[in-house]
Amino acid sequence: MIGVDLHTHSNISDGRLSPEMLVDAAIAKGIHTLALTDHDSMDGVVRAQMAAQQQGIQIISGVEISGQWSRPSTKKSYGVHIVALNMQAPDALEQLLLKQKKIRAQRAEEICQRLTTCIQKDIYNDVLAKVEQMPERITRAHIAQTLLEHGIVRRLQQAFDLYLKQGKKAYVPFVGPSMVETIEVIHQSQGVAVLAHPTRYDLSATNVRFMLELFAQSGGDAVELPQRSEPAGTRQMMDRLIAQHQLKVSIGSDFHGEHMPWLALGNVPELKTGQEGIWHSF
Ligand code: AMP
Ligand code: MN
Ligand code: MN
Ligand code: MN
Repeated sequence: MIGVDLHTHSNISDGRLSPEMLVDAAIAKGIHTLALTDHDSMDGVVRAQMAAQQQGIQIISGVEISGQWSRPSTKKSYGVHIVALNMQAPDALEQLLLKQKKIRAQRAEEICQRLTTCIQKDIYNDVLAKVEQMPERITRAHIAQTLLEHGIVRRLQQAFDLYLKQGKKAYVPFVGPSMVETIEVIHQSQGVAVLAHPTRYDLSATNVRFMLELFAQSGGDAVELPQRSEPAGTRQMMDRLIAQHQLKVSIGSDFHGEHMPWLALGNVPELKTGQEGIWHSF
């Protein structure tokens, strides 16, 4: 048990626990270093830090930024997530997050409009009720949950498979900043940039290699290790690339709540000899 989890969500985005409940759950799991990394928002961080006072757990400021990576040769763009950790001067990042929140709010409306055409039902107001009427918090997970509650799908995954994922009728890309720009803003904010779950974007192995190369060349600091549940070959590929580019590593569960038991709080992979954990510099 490493006691470190640097990728978690609260109900500030698509997690099920409040920031305070997340801190309690982390303490119960024996975690001593926890980063709250909600999608495009740091609004829960101070709440988590307040809840952690005198509890023997360190809360690292964090956010999971929705950005884009374009492969230079093909110019094709892919959505990628960059986790920003341990910001000491967060102003520049907060400015970026204001833009992200506008994109998120607008995109949610557009997704719901497209869904209305598909299902002859406007679920936008029900989605909004899930995020305390704050549209900048809406993720596709909230929309999927609403579709489930309306009986339009039978499982959450089905909502993505039928409507919400790339190539489906209600898919709207998140047009966020480039990977390079994202890393720059994180560094201006005196934080570290972590490439989140590189092997969970449905990219080919070749594209994963190109993406890591650009991330490293752009000054990216660390890469998340694959989850324990990912195949051994995936981990081996990532270990090789991390060594090749001399990147540090980060470990996080991507916990969202008990409803996604395959991403359990504190269930993080172990480091291989020679790998350096990014949190040692916090
Ligand atoms: P968004 O940032 O609005 O695109 O929402 C992405 C979130 O939806 C992710 O962080 C996951 O929590 C969830 N999600 C994305 N794809 C899937 C999927 N195929 N199955 C279940 N949940 C998903
Ligand atoms: Mn999520
Ligand atoms: Mn992610
Ligand atoms: Mn995440």
